[in-house]
Amino acid sequence: MPVHPIIKATSLTKRYGDTVAVDRLSLTVDRGEVYALLGLNGAGKTTTIRMLLGMIRPSDGEVSLFGSPVRSGRSAMWADVGYLVETPAAYPDLTVTENLRLAARLRGLRDQHAVDDVVRRLDLGRHAEHRARTLSLGNARRLGLAKALLHRPALLILDEPANGLDPAGVAEIRHLLHDLAHEEGVTVVLSSHILTEVARIATRIGVLDRGRLVREVGAHELSAQARPRLNLSTRDDQAAVKSLREAGFTPESNGEAGLLLADERAVTRPDDVAALLVEAGLAPTRLVVEQDDLETYFLRLVGHAETVTR
Ligand code: ATP
Repeated sequence: MPVHPIIKATSLTKRYGDTVAVDRLSLTVDRGEVYALLGLNGAGKTTTIRMLLGMIRPSDGEVSLFGSPVRSGRSAMWADVGYLVETPAAYPDLTVTENLRLAARLRGLRDQHAVDDVVRRLDLGRHAEHRARTLSLGNARRLGLAKALLHRPALLILDEPANGLDPAGVAEIRHLLHDLAHEEGVTVVLSSHILTEVARIATRIGVLDRGRLVREVGAHELSAQARPRLNLSTRDDQAAVKSLREAGFTPESNGEAGLLLADERAVTRPDDVAALLVEAGLAPTRLVVEQDDLETYFLRLVGHAETVTR
C-alpha cells in the first residue's frame, strides 16, 4: 500500500478581492510530525488552516488529507481529524461535561470513557460541572482542545492553541501535544506567532509571511541557531585560529566581526580562551558570549529585522 503524507497542500491560494491571503503555498506533513505554521498577524495562518480543513474553498490549488482530496461536505476522513480554529464554540449554558457528552454523541462515539479521559488530559476536572459561559479564556480553550481530542483523531489541526493560556497552561498543552505525537503517532499542525513557543515543540516550522511560505526550518536547525557562541577578535585572527585549533577548539570565521567558537568549553569558560590567547601573545580585543535571540532570528527570516533593531 502506498504511504501517503498525512497532509499535502499544492499551490494553495486564497484571494479576497485584491488581498491575497495565501499565495501558492505548498507543504507536506508526514505522520507523527508536529508542524508549526509561524507568522506575524495577518500572515495567512488561519486562512491556510481553514483551507486544510475544507472550511473555505481555495481560489487555486488543492489539499489532500490521508491521500484523499479535501472537499466540502461530509466525508469519512473527518472522523480522523480533530481541530480547533479561533474561538472554540461551546453551549454557554451547558456544563463542561455536558458540552463534551453532546460533542461525543454528535460524533457517534460509543466509548463511555472518552469524556472522562479528555477531562483528565486537559485538567478540566475542577471545572467539569461549571457552565461553559463561566469559564476563563484559558479554560474555554481547554474545553475546545478537549472536544478536538475526544474521538482520538490521527490528525490534529490547531489554530493558535496556546491563545489565552497562562504560562503553566502553555507548558501543559505543549506536553500534551508532545505526548500525543511521540507516544501515539498523532500528527499535529498548529499555528502561532510566537517562535519561542513553537521552537519547543515543533519538529518543523513553516514560516509564513504575507501569505507565502518563505522558509521551512527543522527543529535541529533552529536549536543550532539558538546555541550560544563566543565571539572574539584579536589583532591577528589567523594566528589566533592556529592557536585555538592547537588547543582543541573549532574556530570559525565571522567575517569582519572576528571569530566564532561554538565549543561548549569556550562558551562556559571564555576566561580560559582569553588566557590561552594572552599566553600566545594574541590578547583578545573583544570577547563576548552571544546568543541569537529567536525572535530576532524569526524577524530576520521574514525580513522584518529592522522592527526590532530600530
Ligand atoms: P492572525 O495571527 O492575526 O490571526 P493570520 O496569520 O491568521 O493572522 P489570516 O487571518 O489568515 O492571517 O489573514 C490573512 C490576510 O487575509 C489578512 O490580510 C486578512 O485581513 C485577510 N483576510 C482573511 N480573511 C478574510 C476575509 N474573509 N475577507 C477578506 N480578507 C480576509
